[in-house]
Amino acid sequence: MKACLLRAPAAIETNPLEYADVETPQPKSGEVLVRVRACGVCRTDLHVIEGELPPRKSPVIPGHQAVGIVEKQGENTRRFAIGDRVGVAWLHRTDGSCEYCRSGAENLCDNPMFTGYSVDGGYAEYIVAPEDFVYALPAGLPDEQTAPLLCAGIIGFRSLRLSGIKAGGRLGFYGFGAAAHVAIQVARHWNVDVFASTRDVRHQELALELGAMWAGGTFDEPPKKLDAAILFAPAGEIVPAALRALKKGGVLVLGGIHMSPIPSFEYQLLYQERVIRSVANNTRQDGEDFLRVAAEIPICTHVQIFPLAEANRALNTLKNDGIPGAAVLHIGE
Ligand SMILES: [Zn+2]
Ligand SMILES: [Zn+2]
Repeated sequence: MKACLLRAPAAIETNPLEYADVETPQPKSGEVLVRVRACGVCRTDLHVIEGELPPRKSPVIPGHQAVGIVEKQGENTRRFAIGDRVGVAWLHRTDGSCEYCRSGAENLCDNPMFTGYSVDGGYAEYIVAPEDFVYALPAGLPDEQTAPLLCAGIIGFRSLRLSGIKAGGRLGFYGFGAAAHVAIQVARHWNVDVFASTRDVRHQELALELGAMWAGGTFDEPPKKLDAAILFAPAGEIVPAALRALKKGGVLVLGGIHMSPIPSFEYQLLYQERVIRSVANNTRQDGEDFLRVAAEIPICTHVQIFPLAEANRALNTLKNDGIPGAAVLHIGE
């Protein structure tokens, strides 16, 4: 099969993904083989490719937002039929036995495997995954538009949940990429007012188009104090500015897997019971709940489509803020 292979981490400007022929994987017990039709491009892929996350497998096929069709099943499978449309996301599997898994926090598992990082991912014509960690997908939305729901969508949804925001509340978004452009649609559905701070003018325009009350530069102060804010940009220097925008008791959620160092700041920014918390991965329950809400709303994603062979170009464009919405690889016929 065709796949994009990362042999060693390197700057994306050097186009490190190699479009190559590799052996098609075979499903083991409990696994399904999925013929991939679209795979979303995530900032985490960039962190894997550029080595900001330490390598777990080499070479590795990146990609953890794969939409495709069940083509073959291993032994001891029961959930899907051949031909079902499914999604494969970041959480490839957990051990199911550590204290976190046993307490319903499998997103914090001590021994997790991640798609497109510790096992091969969806920048390929085929992918294998344990059926218990594969999502059934709602009908209606085309493959390319569905792919960004699988990470950008689910992580944005978990970030919204952890922010504690309620109907009528004011929520800030710092950075307005793939995750934010989905999360704003959920927030608006919940009757939450969104204030978007982002450096790119096209991203500000998209935020307003999707119903933001206000959009401005990253360090511009929103016109009203916020109940909560989500930092989607991987830039620690934004943390003090986001704290400054919060009301007393406000919550700042850090949505990324990697972030540049957070500068020191005066205690006054945190005092008055403001809270900073991070988001790590998601539980399958988050994914199921989000996909149900996404189908109800229904969520509409803005995507820029690239052929699989041009994954390097998609990632370079993402790095340069050149994608309003989400980048998606189209795979196969
Ligand atoms: Zn575990
Ligand atoms: Zn992701």
